[in-house]
Amino acid sequence: MGKVWFVGAGPGDPDLITVKGRGLIAGAGAILYAGSLVAETALRWAPSGCEIADSKDMTLEAITGWLIEKARVHDRVVRLQTGDPSLYGALIEMARPLDAAAIEIGVVPGVSSAMAAAAAAVESLTLPEVTQTVIITRVAGRTPMPEGETLEALARHRCTLCLFLSIRLLRKVRSALCAAGWQEQAPVLVVHKASWPGEEKIIRGTLADIEARCRAEQVDSQAMIIVSPTLGARHWPSLQTSKLYDPDFTHRFRRRVGSEGEG
Ligand code: SAH
Repeated sequence: MGKVWFVGAGPGDPDLITVKGRGLIAGAGAILYAGSLVAETALRWAPSGCEIADSKDMTLEAITGWLIEKARVHDRVVRLQTGDPSLYGALIEMARPLDAAAIEIGVVPGVSSAMAAAAAAVESLTLPEVTQTVIITRVAGRTPMPEGETLEALARHRCTLCLFLSIRLLRKVRSALCAAGWQEQAPVLVVHKASWPGEEKIIRGTLADIEARCRAEQVDSQAMIIVSPTLGARHWPSLQTSKLYDPDFTHRFRRRVGSEGEG
């Protein structure tokens, strides 16, 4: 029996896979990739003769069936996931049938689209004395939100929100955030196909107008929504600089006698 690797492909740019992930692909007997965004990554790094399939039209059962079948004939099978496998990737639903079939599994992390979107727009998700917290969530669609996790409740923290799987629900984003006390004019960032060469779109707007802006740009899929009090800080007239670079600040490498430091 071979081993099945769940590999984070990153957000789309084939160069954003980890070195470890690329190495596993290069030695794979079979690769099952998840949709168009990571097709290029699979094709670019796969060895010749490797069996490659897209899981786009497969049920979860068909996916695990495919992985089990290929693990019977190949030493190494790769399940290539977008971004990082631990986020909205059905990792556990796939791992359990493999466990039941006594197939060994491994997971390689990937660059999540939340990070790729921030990078594309040169934004920081945390900023000293503005927010030190990032919430990764989604708007309730067909998948209901567990108790206590409505967007309105989460938005009351006034920290950074990275919203996955929600680009068609921008109206709900607006009403939930406004109900939580955010201003209609609060900045919003939408990045479509973050990191994807030639196809990435960066759309900036406010809670009030982001839906219209996305419609105008025909963006209604594969998009990350970031709402944060840090957005645009690169152009603020003044900034509270990070204490990490303050000469009086002590941390692990520059600990001052008698202080506890940080990190
Ligand atoms: N595991 C993935 C998320 C899979 S869920 C990750 O870590 O990124 C799919 C959602 O991820 C999409 O609805 C979209 O919100 C986001 N997404 C994935 N790739 C993206 C990309 N290249 N650009 C923007 N958003 C992306």
